[in-house]
Amino acid sequence: MERHSSALALVLGSEPDLPVHCIRPHVATKAADWFVRNFPGDVLYAIKANPHPLILDAVYRAGVRWFDVASMPEIELVSDRFPDATLAFMHPVKARSAIRRAYFDYGVRIFAVDSLEELTKLVGETNGAQDLHIIARLAVSSDYAAHKLEGKFGAQGAEAVMLLREARGVAHELGVSFHVGSQCMRPEAWRIAMTVVSDLIRQAGVTVDIVDIGGGFPCRYPGLTPPPLELYVAEIKAAFDDMPVLENADLWCEPGRALCAEAGSHIVRVELRKGNVLHINDGAYGALYDAAHNGLVFPATLVHSAERPQRPLTPFKLYGPTCDSIDAMEGPFLLPADISEGDYIEFGMTGAYGAALTTRFNGFGDYIEAVLCDAPMMSVYGASSQPANDTIVTQEQ
Ligand SMILES: *Cc1c(COP(=O)(O)O)cnc(C)c1O
Repeated sequence: MERHSSALALVLGSEPDLPVHCIRPHVATKAADWFVRNFPGDVLYAIKANPHPLILDAVYRAGVRWFDVASMPEIELVSDRFPDATLAFMHPVKARSAIRRAYFDYGVRIFAVDSLEELTKLVGETNGAQDLHIIARLAVSSDYAAHKLEGKFGAQGAEAVMLLREARGVAHELGVSFHVGSQCMRPEAWRIAMTVVSDLIRQAGVTVDIVDIGGGFPCRYPGLTPPPLELYVAEIKAAFDDMPVLENADLWCEPGRALCAEAGSHIVRVELRKGNVLHINDGAYGALYDAAHNGLVFPATLVHSAERPQRPLTPFKLYGPTCDSIDAMEGPFLLPADISEGDYIEFGMTGAYGAALTTRFNGFGDYIEAVLCDAPMMSVYGASSQPANDTIVTQEQ
């Protein structure tokens, strides 16, 4: 794969006709290294956020050996690449064939369930295996997350209590897991969730071997500056130590976004300007999905040479390349007032849920990939190319 010192070097060298997924492996390694060093438990990378082989390698390089996977293709990808990896099949609803293949062909022993029906499937398809690590996914609030994950998965109330009891009866190790929602802006969200979980464990009267506190760790985006990650880890550690129902449990986390968001950026070209609206060559059906569907604002910079005169920044709305009117990103994206057709824009922070969500709708979806060696535009781990005191305000609930 091509390597460049920056987006500018790439654009000057090739004037790409397609959007470019830029990958900074060193940035993913730094993020994963932070988690391995600072999280007081095991770190599982939730690969759905970015399963690119260079990102997997970067995370592995930092020492991550456990991976949160949710489908057979994800299982094949990780186990082919890292024969020594431990895989956790964390989708609470699995095809019977996937349970069998994961258990018998790939040696997967860790499985999530959130219903008695799925527990019965799991025990049946593994022929009553005695070595299962069963993780009961429990429902918790995602009130503090920018991207909510409520309703679809997670047992609650009496059903959760039943599930814990039944799973205890067949599990070699029993775990609990939950997800507070993605890009969670408040560390207390985990303490609140752990209180709910403790209560369910107490009602069930079972011993729990694993507490998996899920993903949801935040990154910086324009308008979304989370508290320092150290505070998240400290709050989680304290809440874990305070769980009255545990004797000797392991603590796990499953970060996705936090390990890969900063490692990706995305270069697009302006195809047409209409006033303060720019038509660009990627959008809602491509790597800018979150900007269109979840109102996320990616940091944007014009890719320009040093000779170009500096113009004041102006707010722009963006349209993607497909014919669907949903293919629009409100932003506002702050770009120089003289931006025009043929200019290139680099969006930072697209490493999580960017390339991973691209489709081929309307004939788009071809990309160039390149490795960049510079710093990410924004960072919670240290050096970044944009100052920390830009016009960012903490999101208030
Ligand atoms: C998506 C997902 C994650 C990762 O979430 P982030 O918000 O990206 O950290 C972790 N665990 C499970 C079960 C998930 O579905």
